[in-house]
Amino acid sequence: MKDETKCLHAGYTPKNGEPRVLPIVQSTTYVYESAAEVAGIFDDPTKGLCYSRFANPTVMAVEEKIAALEGGVGAMCTTSGQAATLLSILNICQAGDSIISTPEIYGGTINLFSFTLKKLGIECIYVDKNMSDDEIKACFKENTKLVFGETIANPALTVFDIERFANIAHAMGVPLIVDNTFATPILCKPFDFGADIVVHSTSKYMDGHAVQIGGVIVDSGKFNWDNGKFPELVEPDESYHGTCYTKSYGNMAYIVKARMQLMRDFGVYPAAHSAFLLNLGLETLPVRMKQYTENAMAVAEYLEKSDAVVSVSCPALPSDPNHALAEKYLGGKSCGVISFIIKGGRPAAAKFMDSLKLASNEVHVADIRTCVLHPASETHRQLSDEQLVAAGIDAGMVRFSVGLENIDDILEDLDAALKAAME
Ligand SMILES: *Cc1c(COP(=O)(O)O)cnc(C)c1O
Repeated sequence: MKDETKCLHAGYTPKNGEPRVLPIVQSTTYVYESAAEVAGIFDDPTKGLCYSRFANPTVMAVEEKIAALEGGVGAMCTTSGQAATLLSILNICQAGDSIISTPEIYGGTINLFSFTLKKLGIECIYVDKNMSDDEIKACFKENTKLVFGETIANPALTVFDIERFANIAHAMGVPLIVDNTFATPILCKPFDFGADIVVHSTSKYMDGHAVQIGGVIVDSGKFNWDNGKFPELVEPDESYHGTCYTKSYGNMAYIVKARMQLMRDFGVYPAAHSAFLLNLGLETLPVRMKQYTENAMAVAEYLEKSDAVVSVSCPALPSDPNHALAEKYLGGKSCGVISFIIKGGRPAAAKFMDSLKLASNEVHVADIRTCVLHPASETHRQLSDEQLVAAGIDAGMVRFSVGLENIDDILEDLDAALKAAME
């Protein structure tokens, strides 16, 4: 099946007389005829359902759909993108370990890596993409367990060189985890370029309608965990009566462990109803991405010509410094999010935002409706000026998330607000 077909059909195939639409199984628990059957599921939770803290049929259908879209062997949904990122790391790291990341990532991820993981004893080492491969390799420590990057960085809109970082990670014996939220599997499939694990905030384009917060971890099934660096996946898990994940679950070791161990203990599993809403969004993802891409291109071209704008970031623009990477990873396209630096810095950005009539000023992105945000004073306000620069953010930067309204209406609103900001 191709992506459009997978979005409609993967994960749920009704049998004779069953509902056409994915049912919402709103139940915390599942009934069995004998204690032995329940015991069997405790022995191997992949063999059946027992409790909706870590598995539910509605959620699992969506997991299967997303795994199919990314080309992975399995997926696990979480209650937020933040939870997906956290669990993707805790699944292979513990106190005393370190991770390598580029700084061009989501602000919430920077907080997680720089502060909260540090409190848990996991160090994040940031590397600059302008370093040579050897310089990056020199940043690895004996305890480094993974490399992390974001396909299209939110909000810097730089494009991550997945293949290059996958090669570096693999040379050092560790996996590459890619946050593919902004690209979605419609624009980029990181596993095709060597990534091992993909995470998403499904709150963005995948849902698309701003109705659920969610996340997902997808396993490519390709990383060899039995290389001496990941004993937790290879040796008996004493918290799960001695299960050896690689031995029992083969190329699904990582994603099964995430569910059996981490979801069991942290319990950040989405409700069936949230998964149902996410599924509705996924059904139209390919058509929506196509239109976001077109509308964003029109907005980027308009902004590029505007006298009120210092610079525009949209990897789909041929003039964008990331365009060559967009050609390689995104088919030359980009998502609906554009950032630009307005003339006049912070005050002009505020005036622009307050003057918009159609675009809403809100803490969200990748919605079906056009929305706008000022990273320096909103999402990224916890970052120091130094961290802002490292994350590619200027005080006058506006993040403009182009929606699916008629492009003429979007441009008219933008034009009026830019004029007001320059007065
Ligand atoms: C929003 C976002 C997250 C966090 O997701 P939540 O669902 O808000 O927890 C992570 N990564 C990226 C790229 C995001 O845009």
